[in-house]
Amino acid sequence: MSYSIIDGKAISAQIKEECKQQVLAYKEKGIEICLAVIQVGADPASSVYVNNKKKACEFCGMKSLSYELPEETTEDELLALIHKLNDDPSVNGILVQLPLPKHIDEDLVIRTIDPKKDVDGFHTQSVGALCIGQPGFVSCTPAGIIQLLKRSGIEIAGKECVVIGRSNIVGKPMALLLLRENGTVTVCHSRTKDLKEVTKRADILIVAIGKPKFITSDYVKEGAVVIDVGIHRNENNKLCGDVDFDDVAEKTSAITPVPGGVGPMTIAMLMHNCVASYELQN
Ligand code: NAD
Repeated sequence: MSYSIIDGKAISAQIKEECKQQVLAYKEKGIEICLAVIQVGADPASSVYVNNKKKACEFCGMKSLSYELPEETTEDELLALIHKLNDDPSVNGILVQLPLPKHIDEDLVIRTIDPKKDVDGFHTQSVGALCIGQPGFVSCTPAGIIQLLKRSGIEIAGKECVVIGRSNIVGKPMALLLLRENGTVTVCHSRTKDLKEVTKRADILIVAIGKPKFITSDYVKEGAVVIDVGIHRNENNKLCGDVDFDDVAEKTSAITPVPGGVGPMTIAMLMHNCVASYELQN
């Protein structure tokens, strides 16, 4: 079967360009959009992510404030900084890079961020709003996947959508978003009895399982759309996803590659959320 490759690089570039235009329009009205990024400790992977977020802000013409705190920062010190940023009207978005050092309660930190500035969409209020269809921030990776589907002309309404994975940042919000788009949604997880039986029903299969090349062609229905959220590095330092692309692609009608699929969408949607934060606050 001939399949198309869903180009996350191109779609994310398009979204960032749109954000840039919106930021420019705000600037013309004398409004500057500002994202505060907090990193505690110097985890190398986190540093790469934080740097990419700063670069994206720069591209879009947004201001970014960077707080690089030492590993020994106490929970109280971090919470005090968040309160300060919550109260600062010139700051629109607050992002705390996860994971945090073990001595800091991640849930408490997320709960302390003003939901109106919660551009990661992790606050319980943001998740609750998503659940009951009210306005609020949506977790960037699943929001990006909806954009990939929509901008590739893939209809969600009425489709059998299967999500593998039920994490708070990917699987769960993904299922809620597909439901909001009128998909018929099933969520699979580590306790699902017969995974293949479920995944083979999927018109749209979203894979966020965290295991390299786990999904092979025998999990996939002929003509399905397959979205691969996984990111792994193999022995040769090459990136791969949760889906065995070479085995699966021929069976699909459309599929995301790794890299260049879901990956670049996360930051694009963060930029989108930052622009939206101004509107939510005003
Ligand atoms: P996670 O480990 O929190 O969740 C994995 C989920 O998979 C769990 O809910 C678990 O129940 C399920 N699972 C595990 N084994 C299973 C099995 N055998 N059968 C069925 N379900 C099973 O992972 P996560 O944070 O949701 O991330 C998933 C993947 O996506 C990872 O590879 C991660 O690196 C990647 N990720 C990518 C982006 C991006 O920007 N592209 C963002 C976040 C996460």
